[in-house]
Amino acid sequence: MTQIYGSNWINGTQSTLGTDTTKIFDPATGDLVGHFQASDSAEVARAVKAAKCAQSGWWELGAQRRTELLNQVADNLRNSSHLLAEIESREMGKPIAMAQTDIHGSAEVIENQISGAIEFFAESSSSTGRLVRRPYGVAALITPWNYPVCQVTDVVGALLVAGNTVVVKPSEKAPLSVAALSEVFDCLPPGVFNIVLGNGATGSALIENPDVDLVHFTGSVATGRKVGAVAGARLIPCFLELGGKDPLVIDEDVDIKWAAEIAVTGSLFNTGQVCTSVERIYVHKNIAEPFISELVAQASSWTIGPGSDPSNQLGPLIDGSQRDLVHEHVFEAQLKGAQVLIGGEPLPGPGFFYPPTVVLNPPDDSRLMTEETFGPVITVCVVESFEEGITRANSTSFGLSAGALTANPQHVAAASHLSAGMVTINGGGEGPDDPPFEPTRFSGSGRLFFGPRALEAYTTAYAVNIGEAK
Ligand code: NAD
Repeated sequence: MTQIYGSNWINGTQSTLGTDTTKIFDPATGDLVGHFQASDSAEVARAVKAAKCAQSGWWELGAQRRTELLNQVADNLRNSSHLLAEIESREMGKPIAMAQTDIHGSAEVIENQISGAIEFFAESSSSTGRLVRRPYGVAALITPWNYPVCQVTDVVGALLVAGNTVVVKPSEKAPLSVAALSEVFDCLPPGVFNIVLGNGATGSALIENPDVDLVHFTGSVATGRKVGAVAGARLIPCFLELGGKDPLVIDEDVDIKWAAEIAVTGSLFNTGQVCTSVERIYVHKNIAEPFISELVAQASSWTIGPGSDPSNQLGPLIDGSQRDLVHEHVFEAQLKGAQVLIGGEPLPGPGFFYPPTVVLNPPDDSRLMTEETFGPVITVCVVESFEEGITRANSTSFGLSAGALTANPQHVAAASHLSAGMVTINGGGEGPDDPPFEPTRFSGSGRLFFGPRALEAYTTAYAVNIGEAK
């Protein structure tokens, strides 16, 4: 297989690669996928300078032209989706078809986010307008490895159509698919969209650069705290999208097969490496036995293997340390009295595979119940009542998303008060138009939108009071 060389993209040009490179290996096979070079603070400063120089011209182009160009970006993203999905799969293990579907979804997100920009700016800057909207300036976009492409493309359309310019710093664990985005954004003026590859030090240099005006960070709680502290000291806006320990509460009156399907997919999708994975299930005692048997049967049927084979549903974990962490959580819960019904041991052979694992009744103080696991582990606790399930679901430091399955209208009402940035009842239905997604507590801060309201978040607003001249 061809090796990929990930380059920076600064001011519309690829930076030449040095010799001090970091290697990226396929987590399914151990094969070398490619290299990249971690950017130092001088390289970061070059990217920020390019973004700063390009910003006023980008803003002055006007919302209509920015919208046209970003529609072109969305088209390019669709056209490149197979290549990008293939690189994602090789560098972080995800099944290719899944990655490609996500990327197509993200092209739609860009189109939705930019769809109202012309009206948004027309209204806010009319001659009688009392509320004026302006971009912040240069945005730093720092992203994790679990959805390498979409973590960039789900946010950047809105940042850009708002008139900001952007410097992206993807995760050092999966940077190559993001580096390949330079071709997708090639249609924009130089300096509007820049990519600097690198590690935590690169990210740190980026947010400390005095010409960065806004930080958008997605990643772990531990890093989010550091990023928030730097942005706080610099008094610049900071969006933090962090981890979760999302609960699913299951009532006694639901169809068991349907409930098991939602629980299994929610826990195993992307090998559990999703910020909104189901990480704690509370099931009513009256259906616990048949529900657990169905859950085990469905989870056992998931096919495991490299994401390059379309028949596989469960790829590897991103690396050895993530697999160790998942196993530590399972092992500690078992030591503390939980029952491991299936799985529970790393799989032999090449790759960082961990099987679908079902753990029953871990104690509330085990790491499996208190920390983000980010692996293919389905954790089930049997509760005496739906109310107990809701109470235990809410007893967490996180607040990303939460779900419930119930046919009882009173329980639907109770579940609506689950404490999280997004609540999904019975798998979801038609919700409000362009809803906010606002994580709470350790899961972060700042409101995300996947539609046109994103412009509210990524622009500053100020009032202009115009009186009569005398
Ligand atoms: P991470 O915190 O280790 O790294 C995230 C990014 O931060 C990487 O690009 C990394 O290089 C960079 N970074 C590290 N130290 C930094 C510093 N001091 N200053 C600036 N940048 C720095 O997270 P990860 O392991 O890549 O991602 C997994 C985490 O992301 C999980 O906790 C997951 O829940 C979370 N996540 C959250 C969402 C969401 O929308 N809430 C979405 C996806 C993933």
